Amino acid sequence: MHQLVTFLFTFIQLQTQIIELLFLMLVGKNFTPKADTPIDKKYHKLTVDPLPILGPLPITKIYDYDKLLMDFKLKHNKELKPIKYRGKNIPPAHLTCPYCGAPHGYFYDNNGGKGQYLCKVCNSTFFPFNPSKDTVIHCPFCHCALEKIKERKDFDVFKCTSMNCSFYKKNIRLMSPDQKKLFAKEPYRFKHHYIYRKFHFDFVPLSKENSVLPKVDLSSIKVSHHVLGLILTYHINYGIPSRKTAALMYDVHGVKISHQSILNYTRAIAPIVKPFVDGFEYDLSDSFCGDETYIKVNGRWHYIFFFFDAVKKIILSYNVSKHRDTLNAIKAIDSLLSKLNTLPDNLNLITDGNPIYLLAQQFFAQHNINFDVTQVIGLSNEDPVSKEFRPLKQIIERLNRTFKGNYKATTGYGSEPGSVANVTLFVAYFNFLRPHSKLDGNVPAVIPKLNSLEHMPAKWLTLIKMSEEYIKSKQPA
Ligand SMILES: [Zn+2]
Ligand SMILES: [Zn+2]
Repeated sequence: MHQLVTFLFTFIQLQTQIIELLFLMLVGKNFTPKADTPIDKKYHKLTVDPLPILGPLPITKIYDYDKLLMDFKLKHNKELKPIKYRGKNIPPAHLTCPYCGAPHGYFYDNNGGKGQYLCKVCNSTFFPFNPSKDTVIHCPFCHCALEKIKERKDFDVFKCTSMNCSFYKKNIRLMSPDQKKLFAKEPYRFKHHYIYRKFHFDFVPLSKENSVLPKVDLSSIKVSHHVLGLILTYHINYGIPSRKTAALMYDVHGVKISHQSILNYTRAIAPIVKPFVDGFEYDLSDSFCGDETYIKVNGRWHYIFFFFDAVKKIILSYNVSKHRDTLNAIKAIDSLLSKLNTLPDNLNLITDGNPIYLLAQQFFAQHNINFDVTQVIGLSNEDPVSKEFRPLKQIIERLNRTFKGNYKATTGYGSEPGSVANVTLFVAYFNFLRPHSKLDGNVPAVIPKLNSLEHMPAKWLTLIKMSEEYIKSKQPA
């Protein structure tokens, strides 16, 4: 009996070891806990060059057809006669020669009706309609066709490879002797050639269609108005997690409610409040800065792209995404721009060193929406920044602290819609309900109707009511 027990015991020990070994092979060598913050990648320096020439090159007129016709007459003692067209391939009536300005009547079909013409006056050949060449992109400095050198997730990179390009030659000239030495050894460290990025997004900037109005339906909310106001106050204003809010509602107010109901309520209310938050006519300054902060959703890092008015302390963008990429920077800037009545001529956005903002700037420039981006390295991390930007850094840190203060207790969000709902409600709270010490204790966006109310639950309910009315006023009757 004793032997059997010993045998079984040894057997179990062996089994445990095998299981541990298998587990190790399956999961990996060590179980170091995950870092508390996502890894901060060092950014490559990125410069943005002016736009290329898209479509056919502009042809500069180099001759004057009147003068050429006169010269012809002097030389040959007779007029240069217009062509008598017959048959097929007659040039269109409105055609003029791009090189000399000769009118219809002086053009030969030069390639069997495929669109190339020869001017009888100046002897130039030209394509007036050139669909095949429309897709060619030309360097704005030397007019060479750009070469596609890279295909990235968000864009293709085109380069002017000409060594005679004025842009390239100027950059070579401007190098210091030390840089020239380094360039001779390691030319890849320098970007001297003209670069253009062609984006793949079909995102239309400042389109009204980017925002969709939701249906107002709060029928899932089974508690009284006041209870709902209390829940939002605890859960959003004070950042108390849903389970603790549920416990608090029972212990303090004697209201039995499940934590899941609390999550469901925030998810029902956030889409109704969002159009109001986004469509509100904010009184804005001209100082805006952007910053990404990270949150955990279902155990995975997500980013919130904040843009806010640095003077008025109003949050204008708050997109949540899995990706810290150019499209999200574009969306964040778009929701900021859509809140400005007119785009100021000297609009300048201040961001951290992430190149996605410069790429976004280039994307908007390609849609004729122009603004500057000032990148401040160290704006939103531990690194020191210059004195000029120190106040901005403090503003960003304060916003981050406020947000993180509310978010921290939740230890991350369980789902993506849940995180979006919470961030939206946080922004509604931050802009309309939260007194700000830097604004003499006023809320950033003052609504007199809310100010006169005595307590927070009433303010939340009035805000929801106003949001419902806002949606109704925007919906076609
Ligand atoms: Zn001509
Ligand atoms: Zn060039």
